[in-house]
Amino acid sequence: MNSDPHCIFCRIVAGQIPSRKIYEDDELLVFHDIAPWAPVHFLIIPKQHLATLYDAGEEHTAMLGRMLALAPRLARDQGVANGFRVLINTGPDGHQEVPHMHMHVMGGPRPWLRG
Ligand code: AMP
Ligand code: ZN
Repeated sequence: MNSDPHCIFCRIVAGQIPSRKIYEDDELLVFHDIAPWAPVHFLIIPKQHLATLYDAGEEHTAMLGRMLALAPRLARDQGVANGFRVLINTGPDGHQEVPHMHMHVMGGPRPWLRG
């Protein structure tokens, strides 16, 4: 599997950095964001290193679909039943800070810190 030893999210996948894990399968890992903007804020990431959404090709279509399909299911599991946001920051102008593609899922009662 494609992995970057210097990437913080690859290191979370490898178990070298701890995370508050919500879900895991062969392809995806989901964990709580360390600096949540909303009462519930988790990240859905592919286990393989993919830097940005720009780097996703035809071969990643099914995985991207699975990420999106997982969001409402896990949101409900986390008690979010009144709506949520999904966000994939991409590249510098997209304010992507961690260069391992990830989907933010944010929900819970307003007000939120951001977003
Ligand atoms: P982005 O700006 O879209 O790249 O978002 C990166 C997100 O990763 C931010 O919301 C951070 O709070 C979050 N983050 C960074 N390091 C960790 C970590 N070790 N565990 C969980 N979330 C993290
Ligand atoms: Zn990575």
